[in-house]
Amino acid sequence: SVRVRFCPSPTGNPHVGLVRTALFNWAFAKHHQGTLVFRIEDTDAARDSEESYGQLLDAMRWLGFDWDEGPETGGPHPPYRQSQRMDIYADVARRLLDSGHAYHCYCSQEELDSRREAARAAGRPSGYDGHCRDLSAAQVEEYVAQGREPIVRFRMPDETITFTDLVRGELTFTPENVPDYGIVRANGAPLYTLVNPVDDALMEITHVLRGEDLLSSTPRQIALYRALTELGIAKETPAFGHLPYVMGEGNKKLSKRDPQSSLNLYRERGFLPEGLLNYLSLLGWSLSADRDVFTMDEMVAAFDISDVNPNPARFDLKKCEAINADHIRLLGAEDFTERCRPWLTAPAAPWAPEDFDEAKWQAIAPHAQTRLKVLSEITDNVDFLFLAEPVFDEASWNKAMKEGSDALLRTAREKLEAADWTSPESLKEAVLAAGEAHGLKLGKAQAPVRVAVTGRTVGLPLFESLEVLGKEKALARVDAALA
Ligand code: GLU
Repeated sequence: SVRVRFCPSPTGNPHVGLVRTALFNWAFAKHHQGTLVFRIEDTDAARDSEESYGQLLDAMRWLGFDWDEGPETGGPHPPYRQSQRMDIYADVARRLLDSGHAYHCYCSQEELDSRREAARAAGRPSGYDGHCRDLSAAQVEEYVAQGREPIVRFRMPDETITFTDLVRGELTFTPENVPDYGIVRANGAPLYTLVNPVDDALMEITHVLRGEDLLSSTPRQIALYRALTELGIAKETPAFGHLPYVMGEGNKKLSKRDPQSSLNLYRERGFLPEGLLNYLSLLGWSLSADRDVFTMDEMVAAFDISDVNPNPARFDLKKCEAINADHIRLLGAEDFTERCRPWLTAPAAPWAPEDFDEAKWQAIAPHAQTRLKVLSEITDNVDFLFLAEPVFDEASWNKAMKEGSDALLRTAREKLEAADWTSPESLKEAVLAAGEAHGLKLGKAQAPVRVAVTGRTVGLPLFESLEVLGKEKALARVDAALA
C-alpha cells in the first residue's frame, strides 16, 4: 500500500511551497487510500525551533491535512521527530562504516576548498575527489595523531544511476556527477543526507514527492538505499517524483524569504484553506482544462501524479484571490457568517465589542458574501454599521462631494425621509428621484449619499446597506454631512 511522507524542517514560518508539497502528498495518499506520514526533520539544532514546530502543526491543522502517522498522532514507527532518533542514526552510520559503504574522511575544509579550486581551474569535476576513500592504516594513524576529527562520508558506487521520476520520466546520473558525500559531521551530528533516507526506509515510504530543488540528492539517496537494503535496513527503494519550481515576481524562484510566500500572510488576510489549497493545487497540476475551481474531494478523486507538469509554475496572487473569492461564494450562509467572526471581534474589529449588533450582521452578511475576495475585507465593508461615525477618508470625501452635491443631498434627504425603509427598492426610488431633480444618473446621485453614510466610495450595495443601518442613523449622517 502507498506510504508517503511530508517531512519539513522547523525553520521559520511555513511557506506556500511547503504547503504545495504537503498538499500533493496528502492528495496522493488519499487518492490511493494510503498513509501520510508527518515527520519533523529537526536535526539542525542551530536552525530549528520549537516555535516553528508549533507553527507547522498548527498550519497542518488549519489546512485540514490529517496525517495518519506523526507527532501527536503516533504510529508504528515512533518517534516522528528526528531529534529524538539520534541513536538510530548513530547505529546506521556505524553499520555503513563497518560494511565499507562509508568511510572516515579527514580532509580539512581548507584542503577541500583548494583542491576544488584546482579541479575547477583544470576543467575537472569539482566534487569530492575521493582522497580518503582508501587510506592505509598508517595514514589514518597519522591523521589521528595530527588531531584531525573525521566526518563520515558515503562511498558512491562507481556506476550510473537511472531512475524513472514520476513527474519527469527517466533520469540518469553518471558517477562523475555524484561524488562521495558527507553523512555525519565531525562532531557526530548526522546530516539530512543520512537521516532523511534512513527514516524513509524505516518508515517504509513507497513514494517520495518533493520539490525539484532536492532532485540532485536523489541519486545519492538511491545509492544509500541500496546499501541499506544490503544491510537489511531498507526493504525497497521508493519511487521519486519531483514537483516543479514555483516562480514569483519577475520570474524568479519564489523564496521562503519572499513576504508573498508566508502562509501566515494568507491566514491573516482571510483566505479560506480550501481556496488557498485549490489555487496551490494548480501550481503544477490541473483538474481539467476548463475548471479552475473545485473542492479538495474532487482533487483527491482526480489526482494522478503522472499528470503533474514538470515546467516551473508561476505564482499569481490575483488568480489566487479570484479562486478564493469563488470559494467564499460557495460557503453556506451560516458557514460564511461564522468564518468572518474572527474579523468581527477584537482585536481585528475597530469597533467596541458592545457596539457589534448580531441582527445587523446577519442582515448584511448575504450582501458581503457575494463581494469579498478575502475575509479580512469584511471589516471595512461593515464598519459603518457598528461605529458611531463612519470612517471618512479625505480622498473619498473629495471624490464624491463635488459642486452641487449639497443640493443633491438635501433633495435626497427629503425623498429618503418619505421612503419606505423596509424596502431597498423604495430607497433606490428616492435617490433616483433626487438625481433626476438635479439632472444626475443614479450612479452619480448615490455617490454622495454613500460617502455620507458609509464614509467610502465603494462598498456593499447601498440601498440594502441603508436599510440595515436604519432610517434614523442614516438620515443623521446625511445631516452631519450637510452641516
Ligand atoms: N526536511 C527536508 C526539507 O524540508 C525534506 C526534504 C525531502 O522531502 O526529502 O527540505
